[in-house]
Amino acid sequence: MKYVSTRGSAPELGFADALLAGLALDGGLYLPEFWPALPALEQLRGRSYSEIAVEVMWPFVQGDIPRDVFERIVQDSYAGFASEQVCPLVPLGTTAAGADLYLLELFHGPTLAFKDVALQLVGRLFDYVLTQRDERICILAATSGDTGSAAIDAVRDRERIDICILFPEGRVSDVQRRQMTTVVASNVHAVAVEGTFDDCQDLVKAAFGDSTFRDEVHLGAVNSINWARVMAQIVYYVVAYLEATDSSEAGDESLGAKSVAQAGEVTFCVPTGNFGNILAGWAAKQMGLPIDRLVVASNRNDILTRFFTTGHMEIQGVVPTSSPSMDIQVSSNLERLLFEVLDRDGQAVAEFMAAFRADGSVSIPAAILDKLRAEFDAGSVDDESAAAVIQSVHQRTALVLDPHSAVAVALAERLGGEESVPVVALATAHPAKFPDAVEAALGFRPELPAHLTDLFDRVERIEHVQNTLEAVEALVRSQLKSRQRP
Ligand SMILES: *Cc1c(COP(=O)(O)O)cnc(C)c1O
Repeated sequence: MKYVSTRGSAPELGFADALLAGLALDGGLYLPEFWPALPALEQLRGRSYSEIAVEVMWPFVQGDIPRDVFERIVQDSYAGFASEQVCPLVPLGTTAAGADLYLLELFHGPTLAFKDVALQLVGRLFDYVLTQRDERICILAATSGDTGSAAIDAVRDRERIDICILFPEGRVSDVQRRQMTTVVASNVHAVAVEGTFDDCQDLVKAAFGDSTFRDEVHLGAVNSINWARVMAQIVYYVVAYLEATDSSEAGDESLGAKSVAQAGEVTFCVPTGNFGNILAGWAAKQMGLPIDRLVVASNRNDILTRFFTTGHMEIQGVVPTSSPSMDIQVSSNLERLLFEVLDRDGQAVAEFMAAFRADGSVSIPAAILDKLRAEFDAGSVDDESAAAVIQSVHQRTALVLDPHSAVAVALAERLGGEESVPVVALATAHPAKFPDAVEAALGFRPELPAHLTDLFDRVERIEHVQNTLEAVEALVRSQLKSRQRP
């Protein structure tokens, strides 16, 4: 598979090069040259997560990684998940329209957020490609909380990788921060920035834009600007679809076979920040997965809801909420969707992004908005409504939702639509990652899983950096220097 940039002027790359590059040289994001078709869904039904993962992702990596190596890497990536199903689907009642409602639990990886699903794979892919090429890489990434720890866990102690994570000081939860700052590994640096997540993301983009620096330190990306992350997330949409439309467990074999044959569409409701997760759902749909609606669920930082409602995108400043991983204004991955709805016109995307950068606001033509609205819905949920959903779901099912998942469930419950279309809400974090919000709603603190119970006893190592490109580049250089010293 070849990969093309959303801004149209960077060279096409193969999978391994797109993996290492992260951001394209023209500032765009990589997308596959075309959308391969999924294998026949009935052939995937009943197979393990890893087996389905290999089948779904194979066309994207074929030519760059041998099949047996890829199978082993995928198997390895998910072996450490706390659930044997990797991403289990749990029934949660019905929506306002009477449709079956499910929760897709994506938080059974080592750092308790959905980002592990992609990053456990991406870390191993980096390792494989770098070893093949006898190269090193320095990963620079911004985190709103969860990418940082998931990326650190995925690459800690890897010989050929250094990692520097920028997080907004005081704007991530204590659990999130400690998951980054207590890791003892000489290749890991967790760095606090005075600013917001968007500031951190801008610093990373600026560092990538400085081609001298980029080449000098062999910069690599693990933010969802990296195509491989989106790719890995396509898998669980397929797995969830198969589960939600599988009635073979109902007992009556003939009835099961009948409804399986008639399996229709499914709607997904996704707690959204950088738009990477929901973009993977959209990609699954391009590959042939029968998806009815994709619902963009935002907290009070509702730039995406306003955009999908009016076609006007306007920055209004970030307000802190109980779901901090979604406290984002500029969603990088929206660029990939724009590229597609603008018929892959890189020039038009570059102009749109430049106008947005310059003015902090930009509009799309009505015809483009119509295209988006044909597939996406969007809504915003405030902290009070999210807390109310944490309470009602706990009362009804004894399940404890984290505040991000609660935003998705709140919107999913409200959804109109058809009774016959099941709705899957994505649960993106384990409740123990956000104990304060859960305690405020339920009156108790959810317990951390066994491997993290001593998190608050571990020693933190935090570096600080000013919110300027010069300061970040100087820090990265000095980190690399000290690591290379014998
Ligand atoms: C990262 C994250 C999100 C947002 O996902 P995007 O892919 O950035 O849209 C939502 N919830 C949690 C818990 C996260 O960590």
